[in-house]
Amino acid sequence: MIRDNINAVEDRIQSACNQSGRKRKEVKLIAVSKTKPIEMLQQAYACGCRDFGENKVQELLEKYDHMPKDIRWHMIGHLQRNKVRYIVDKVYLIHSVDSLRLAEEISKEAVKKDVTVSILIEINVAEEASKFGTTAREAAALVEEISRLPNIAVRGLMTIAPYVENPEENRLYFTMLRQIAVDIIHKNIDNVCMKELSMGMTGDYETAITEGATYIRIGTGIFGEREYTSV
Ligand SMILES: *Cc1c(COP(=O)(O)O)cnc(C)c1O
Repeated sequence: MIRDNINAVEDRIQSACNQSGRKRKEVKLIAVSKTKPIEMLQQAYACGCRDFGENKVQELLEKYDHMPKDIRWHMIGHLQRNKVRYIVDKVYLIHSVDSLRLAEEISKEAVKKDVTVSILIEINVAEEASKFGTTAREAAALVEEISRLPNIAVRGLMTIAPYVENPEENRLYFTMLRQIAVDIIHKNIDNVCMKELSMGMTGDYETAITEGATYIRIGTGIFGEREYTSV
C-alpha cells in the first residue's frame, strides 16, 4: 500500500515538474510519518525514502533510535525551547523557527554540541490565528537578527497553507512565500541563504511545486489518514 502511494505521489510530482519546467531533483519529498508506527516508516524506507518529517520531539527521538542512520530527520512542528537540546545534533533541518528566542536557544545548544543547525523560518502567510509562524512583514528583520547568531544557518522559508478543498486557493500563499524569499535575498544578509522553500502538503503539493517548492511534506498521501487518540 505504501509503495503504491509513493508511486502515485511520484507520478504527480513528476507531472507538476513537467508542467512548470522544473527538474524532479529540485523537489525533495519528505515523508511525514507523525503518529505512524515504525513498521510503516520501514516500508517507506524500503521504497527509497530518506527524508522523514515529525512534529513532536519525543516521537522523533524514538523513531531516530529505531531507524537507520542515513535518514535525514526534519522537525516540522512547533518546537518548545526546553526541548531544543534533545534534537540539535539529530535533525537535518528544523522547518519551524518563528522567533528570535527559539533561534537563540538552538544556537546556544548547537554551540555546546559543536554542530551547525540548519533552519527554515516559518511564515504564517495566510495570517491564520490558529497557526504558528512569523508574519510576512516581520520575516526579513527576524532573518537578519538570526543571521548574527553562531552555529545556526538559515536555508530558506516554510509555510503551512490553510486547509482547502481546492488547492488553487493556496496558490497566492505559495507565491507570497517565494516573493518574501526574493525580498530577503535582495537584502544581501551575510550567512543567509534562501534556497529552500518548504511548502505543499497532501492536498496542495502540485500547486506548491509549480510555485517553486523545494521541499514538499506529504503525510496522508503516503501513509494514509492519521488517527488521533485523545489523551
Ligand atoms: C502533518 C503535517 C504535514 C503533512 O500533512 P498531510 O496533509 O497529511 O500531507 C505537513 N506539514 C506539517 C507541518 C505537518 O504538521
